Amino acid sequence: MAGYCSNSPRRCALARSMAKIVQTDGICPECGCALIPIPEPINSSHMERRVLMLGLSVTGLLLLLLAYMHYTYVA
Ligand SMILES: [Zn+2]
Repeated sequence: MAGYCSNSPRRCALARSMAKIVQTDGICPECGCALIPIPEPINSSHMERRVLMLGLSVTGLLLLLLAYMHYTYVA
């Protein structure tokens, strides 16, 4: 897991620097304190899917508009 040292900044250099620590056991390598987990960044894959869906709906709308124009002006 990744996190920040939960120790007092005066007692641990890693807590002072707010360095992101990646330790599998969740313990600060400097002082042995537990890490405060960093909240996961906004799910990027979810965002990407939203953007993809938006693009698809815009494309669909454009196609509908094209078909509408085609039948209005050509036929
Ligand atoms: Zn520490």
